[in-house]
Amino acid sequence: MEKVYSIVGARPQFVKAAAVAHAFARQADVEHHLIHTGQHFDENMSEVFFSELEIPAPRYRLSVSSLSHGAMTGRMLEQIEGIFLKNRPAVVIVYGDTNTTLAGALAAVKLHIPVAHVESGLRSKNRAMPEEINRIVTDHVSDLLFAPNETAVRQLRAEGLPEDKIHNVGDVMFDACLRYGNAVDTGQSILETLGLEPRGYVLATVHRAENTDSCERLAGILEGFRLSATLIILPLHPRTRDKIAAFGLSIPENVRVLEPVGFRAMLQLERNARCLATDSGGVQKEAFFMHRPCITMRDETEWTELVDSGWNVLVGVNAECIKAAIANATEPSAWPTFYGDGDASGKIVARILGLPALAQRINS
Ligand code: UDP
Repeated sequence: MEKVYSIVGARPQFVKAAAVAHAFARQADVEHHLIHTGQHFDENMSEVFFSELEIPAPRYRLSVSSLSHGAMTGRMLEQIEGIFLKNRPAVVIVYGDTNTTLAGALAAVKLHIPVAHVESGLRSKNRAMPEEINRIVTDHVSDLLFAPNETAVRQLRAEGLPEDKIHNVGDVMFDACLRYGNAVDTGQSILETLGLEPRGYVLATVHRAENTDSCERLAGILEGFRLSATLIILPLHPRTRDKIAAFGLSIPENVRVLEPVGFRAMLQLERNARCLATDSGGVQKEAFFMHRPCITMRDETEWTELVDSGWNVLVGVNAECIKAAIANATEPSAWPTFYGDGDASGKIVARILGLPALAQRINS
């Protein structure tokens, strides 16, 4: 049977690949397997997603993490290549913009295996971001460019990528939010567990290297939270936790720090927050999917349509600006359909199965 491999390694990729894995599970003719590079490895940054999202355990598990960019990408590339040489997948799918994405795409393209990039065409226009380099290189070596929206399609065209590779399928994270966010909540809700009132808190996440690697920027964010004088719920990424300690910064009293939470709990927290304050790509979109206003603590964003439509405000890391944005956060009345119809993963799988080489082999 033909094999399609998805390469994952970081938290947002588990969410994206889950949507695609569920769509492949409906196909009898193809086996879909995951390779987990180990980029994220903690129980609450990795394992919880596999149990909660009901996706099969990875077929291969590498342990490449906590290294410099070059070392991490290089080791992943070598090990993924070894797996491909043994198994020869018909197609390889990579997601988003991490070192895992880049390594998976390079390993496949050098072996002449077709590469599909999910969340293609995103750009911050800031080449100091490691993610931006990963996106650009991955898009330019991929065979199928699955763009989540029209902005991404325009970007790919502007970079001269061929029209027949570009497919605006919508956003797989929208699929995931509908699937898991609408699921009937069994068990105790995280709001009850934490004693939170709906709309009684701001949900925040901080993990982008540009913010965590700078004491000044991280201090600005924490000071903005303090000045907001409102309850901030902060599920803290391990990198940020380490940096706060290393810089000797203190957490303001109105900020309640949590360990990273599972995806279902995160969706509940997002849905019930007064607003979100984040530097995450995925959380900016999830705020919109949950109809909550978002404040983005960065100097630019890839999801510009959210800013243009008023659902997201770019505030940078100035404490006074963060305070003002939290105080003023309101949701616009219009909720445009930027990210497709909630079946991006179904369209992705249909396109992959329609690749002439694969379709021929399945039908022969
Ligand atoms: N997320 C989660 N628990 C948390 C924080 C985030 O499940 O404590 C989820 C979030 O809902 C989104 C994804 O992780 O689906 C976003 O990942 P992250 O912010 O790490 O990466 P980015 O989207 O910025 O690449």
